Amino acid sequence: MSENRVEINELGEFGLIDRIHRNTRLHNESSLTGIGDDAAVISADGGDCILLATDMLVEGIHFDLSYFPIRHVGYKAVVVNVSDIAAMNGRPEQITVSMAVSNRFSVAAIDELYAGIRSACDNYKVDLVGGDTTSSVSGLVLSVAVLGRAAREKITYRSGARPTDIICVTGDLGAAYLGLQVLEREKQVFLSNPDMQPALENYEYLVGRMLRPEARTDVVHDLGEFGIKPTSMIDISDGLASELIHIGTMSDVGVRIFEDKIPVDRLTYDTALEFHLDPVTCALNGGEDYELLFTIAQGDYEKIRMHPDIHFIGYIHDQKDQHIMITKGEQTVPLKAQGWDHFRK
Ligand code: ADP
Ligand code: MG
Repeated sequence: MSENRVEINELGEFGLIDRIHRNTRLHNESSLTGIGDDAAVISADGGDCILLATDMLVEGIHFDLSYFPIRHVGYKAVVVNVSDIAAMNGRPEQITVSMAVSNRFSVAAIDELYAGIRSACDNYKVDLVGGDTTSSVSGLVLSVAVLGRAAREKITYRSGARPTDIICVTGDLGAAYLGLQVLEREKQVFLSNPDMQPALENYEYLVGRMLRPEARTDVVHDLGEFGIKPTSMIDISDGLASELIHIGTMSDVGVRIFEDKIPVDRLTYDTALEFHLDPVTCALNGGEDYELLFTIAQGDYEKIRMHPDIHFIGYIHDQKDQHIMITKGEQTVPLKAQGWDHFRK
């Protein structure tokens, strides 16, 4: 082993992907966009493009089967992929499912997993068209790939934000992260006394956001109806701050958001305080919400101003790398990317 061995955690997930990206050459003209966005863009016959994305869920990293019903694991594995197609302003159409499974799992468990997968396929009208099955030493690994479609001129990239564009976010943020905190706490209670039932009643919304997220294909549809093409878009898997920085960096612009505009649900707020966490930090860095973050030209604002599920949190400016939040006390703080970094455990 070489003495100057570099550990993966020194690079982090984004650093590792960057390194792979830099050393990758594309061979086909049809590969319009490769690594670096929510999905790859591939030209097809006619005016449409094929969108391709893939996401993997690993037991012990992304889910803990002691509180994550296996049916929900199947559902979520599809949703997180559909969300990446939504983030490109496309329609998801097909998925493949690859799994590595150990003999710890019964046929009934795999039936449940696929019940969740099929339920998501029904909800999002996508077709399960293939996959791969292999064995694993212990845990369950689930890798889903999704194919989507969009007219070439409708596709939204992370790189299209321009100064003065308005920054928009759907739904509310931080709930999934707090759902996870609640589940982890109840797991500890259960482990210390198996007779205790987990007390989740008051936290159903939060737990549901963690265990059964939805992709915002509805908002993509609404934007189309209003004749709006976002100038840039990304889905919020790692956390608002991290995704804002992706958009800012890839668009060569700065982002400015206002703390008091960040949508946080009442229950999220109260539960954060219960856990001695700052609600806004949960919204900025929690992740797993699968809401959409996008930018629109000023001229489009009137068209969606009244949309109940779209919030306007700031704007794009021309000082690149100046990614900042104006706090409730009118202080300026830099945004930091603190997404899930599985290598920093
Ligand atoms: P997302 O959060 O939208 O799933 P990721 O942060 O996982 O996106 O990935 C960012 C980009 O890097 C995507 O274009 C993805 O396809 C690509 N990517 C991630 N991991 C790898 C890898 N191991 N090899 C090649 N490309 C990768
Ligand atoms: Mg994404």
